[in-house]
Amino acid sequence: METTEKKSKHFIEQEIDRDLAEGVYDHVMTRFPPEPNGYLHIGHAKSILLNSMVAEEYGGKFNLRFDDTNPTKEKDEFVESIKADVEWLGADYGDRLYFASDYFERFYEYALKLIRKGKAYVCELSADEIRATRGTLTEPGTNSPYRDRPVEENLDLFEKMRSGEVEDGAMVLRAKIDMASPNINMRDPVIYRVAHVSHHRQGDKWCVYPMYDFAHPLEDAIEGVTHSLCTLEFEDHRPLYDWVVRECECDPAPRQIEFAKLYLTNVVTGKRYIKKLVEEGIVDGWDDPRLVSIAGLKRRGYTPEAIRMFIEMCGISKSNSSTDYAMLEYCIREDLKMKKKRMMAVIDPVKLVIDNYPEGQTEQLPIINNKENEELGERLLTFSRELYIEREDFMEEPPKKYFRMFPGNEVRLMNAYFVKCTGCEKDENGNVTVVHATYDPETKSGSGFTGRKVKGTIHWVPANESIEATVRLYENIIDEEKGVYNEDGSLNLNPDSLTEMKHARLEPAFGELKAYDSFQFVRKGYFTVDAKDSTPERPVFNRIVSMKSSFRLPK
Ligand code: ATP
Ligand code: MG
Repeated sequence: METTEKKSKHFIEQEIDRDLAEGVYDHVMTRFPPEPNGYLHIGHAKSILLNSMVAEEYGGKFNLRFDDTNPTKEKDEFVESIKADVEWLGADYGDRLYFASDYFERFYEYALKLIRKGKAYVCELSADEIRATRGTLTEPGTNSPYRDRPVEENLDLFEKMRSGEVEDGAMVLRAKIDMASPNINMRDPVIYRVAHVSHHRQGDKWCVYPMYDFAHPLEDAIEGVTHSLCTLEFEDHRPLYDWVVRECECDPAPRQIEFAKLYLTNVVTGKRYIKKLVEEGIVDGWDDPRLVSIAGLKRRGYTPEAIRMFIEMCGISKSNSSTDYAMLEYCIREDLKMKKKRMMAVIDPVKLVIDNYPEGQTEQLPIINNKENEELGERLLTFSRELYIEREDFMEEPPKKYFRMFPGNEVRLMNAYFVKCTGCEKDENGNVTVVHATYDPETKSGSGFTGRKVKGTIHWVPANESIEATVRLYENIIDEEKGVYNEDGSLNLNPDSLTEMKHARLEPAFGELKAYDSFQFVRKGYFTVDAKDSTPERPVFNRIVSMKSSFRLPK
């Protein structure tokens, strides 16, 4: 799709334009700041692509920064997977990879600065007492009895917190702001806590750790980030963000701007739900193709291009809303439509015997790989007396408007001949085992035959030369609209989220398959070679998306 009209700028771009025009900043720097405590999902992709695209647009820089200030949940394993996901999405952070934990010494210095300015104090109230004295939305909080400690005493106690002499929970460092502030985040928030826990990179060097609201603005300032783009739940924290950079005298001060999170309808996106599915062994790891984790989407066969198109279509706004999952499917179909070969594969095969086709005879039929993209060339497909067709393409007693195979009906075998169904064979349980038909040699595709028309066209593969494969079909694992949990607290799982078709038949021209190779299977959708389970002996395909769409582009 060519667009000549210029895209209108979203509100973040407008803010950046203004900051640059007013000389607040002379450059643009953004960052994506994941905590390495889990895998990334499609929601994170929005944040990654927004930050990296904004930096690119303004000729600025984009940092990947691990916000690893809470050692209890963080692991190196997550660092590696997050790096891989960000790179796969095409967000280029170059050599700008940072860890907040590398700034621990700097955070500590800034905390000392606040104490010396009389802007922070060591408080010995317990966590419960702090909560109880914080007040409510309608009532102010009450001052801590430790609030007016002299600077020297604060410095001394903070040093003791750092040196390991203080037990977990016995003391915290709090910012001294305003216990009567209408914004609860400003009521003397805790900015440092004691935790005798090993850090994934710093080991046992530290036993005090900074809180998110204190560390995050400083991380931004230390790196020279100008626009700190984050999701709406941080809006109420912005006054604290601004307080920290002001009182710590960061220059230039970074600026926080919030945008709405990405939510998908009928799909589980929350980190917590995904974690539960993985930890309970309900799915095959973080990259299970049913998950909307980045790793899952990749394994499912989604492409970075499709995800980028999706995020651009979603747009950037300040109000929360849900996006239809079908739009993501639309984007992957659009991306693959012109790029992929359209192949014959029968997912649930039943044999078709063409009784008037001479035994032992075969023909090579030329097939265009993608009628909308000639560059993908042609291939040959063997036609023979015995073929496979989809089981659902035959019915002994068809309902109205069924135009496929049934006794007495004529259909086109795609790229081949018209065949007329003559009947079927069944086993003792009444299952159809073979469908019979006769063909009309006059009707060969490409021969210019115009004698009559048929209403149905079905696909097929040759019985002898086709390759057996496993094909996985997916449905949503949990439908968020129907409720994530059952009454007893267990997850409300869709029992049909995965169907494995173990006897699918592929035409021979698929050739040698590599992980993530994808194809259109005509009439059936787009499929990709599974990166974990596919082998040369037993190809395994994941259905990325079916051909049918309920999604309509907004006008
Ligand atoms: P948590 O903080 O609860 O562990 P998280 O999903 O916020 O989970 P982070 O690692 O803190 O994980 O997220 C990194 C960045 O991704 C944050 O800036 C966050 O705002 C952003 N982000 C998270 N979820 C979404 C979403 N659904 N849409 C857009 N951005 C998101
Ligand atoms: Mg977060």
